[in-house]
Amino acid sequence: MNRVLVTGGAGFIGSHLVDYLLSKGVYVRVVDNLSSGRLEHVSHHFGSKLFEFVEGDLKNPETALKAVEDVDTVFHLAANPEVRLSVTEPIVHFNENLLATFNLLEACRRKGSVKLFVFASSSTVYGDASVLPTPETHEVKPISVYGASKAGCEALLSSYSHLYGFKGVSLRYANIVGPRLRHGVIYDFIMKLSRNSRELEILGDGSQRKSYLHVRDAVEATVTAAENSPSTYDCFNVGNEDWVTVTEIADIVSKAMGVKPSYRFVATVKDGRGWPGDVKLMLLSIEKIKKLGWAPRLSSREAVEETARALVAELGLK
Ligand code: NAD
Repeated sequence: MNRVLVTGGAGFIGSHLVDYLLSKGVYVRVVDNLSSGRLEHVSHHFGSKLFEFVEGDLKNPETALKAVEDVDTVFHLAANPEVRLSVTEPIVHFNENLLATFNLLEACRRKGSVKLFVFASSSTVYGDASVLPTPETHEVKPISVYGASKAGCEALLSSYSHLYGFKGVSLRYANIVGPRLRHGVIYDFIMKLSRNSRELEILGDGSQRKSYLHVRDAVEATVTAAENSPSTYDCFNVGNEDWVTVTEIADIVSKAMGVKPSYRFVATVKDGRGWPGDVKLMLLSIEKIKKLGWAPRLSSREAVEETARALVAELGLK
């Protein structure tokens, strides 16, 4: 891995991956359309000879072609990560996730320099898994369009790596949290409590239970899988071994903000999940990636606690 493209490198996970790769002396090109990413996440690298930032949209095939020029490794993180939006506006995820990924894979096929393509997939490909912790061998049966778009991208990568001479790795991330996070339940609760500290609206009945991984652990897992995956194409779960409920997250966030709100549960879906398409229970088996030499340093609970404290400070709320 010498010359690397990180798509979505101005986003949450992408920018942490960029920090890590640059700290190891790797040349990094970021392509990002700044739809949810922020320049301030990468601006501390401006001026470095090892760093290049390109503002561009991967829905445009020409941008994708230029993006992969002279790179040997692609970390493809650019996507729209909002599961809830995919339920009401499926076309967004078709375009941002499937079309953009197709353009990038086509660019790799046509340019030929790329030897390794790592894709940021998601635990949502499993839908309501029948086995917990869920192993990679579990059937892929998404219940949101977001999950379906990730499953489709995985399938494209599997076929392209089989046909066109580069290695493919799909990483099925659990919920990734940490500094710079600007979406998901922790950020949502912080924003709500900053507007009204007396009452917190919680979508669902609060018993939804999922696994959370700190972004530092996620970056190390990403690089470990990239460097050590033995097959032409493979997928790995990237998550934690414990899980926390949404109500526990509300408690952690309230404590970090120094407030004691009452909770108002808004359960619009029968079985207490947050919204149609929301997975209620998510815990991934991480035995497969552990065999490559990676293990999480922080538990789900510790990762959520650290994130809540970090975001409250970052956003100047305490
Ligand atoms: P993010 O929104 O912070 O980052 C996505 C980045 O992609 C943003 O910088 C955005 O501007 C950019 N982008 C979006 N569409 C683009 C396009 N068409 N062309 C160029 N750039 C584009 O999200 P994140 O949380 O950092 O997620 C990174 C990846 O990991 C995504 O693929 C997401 O689906 C996946 N993922 C994230 C989580 C999580 O919990 N954060 C969990 C599972 C999977």
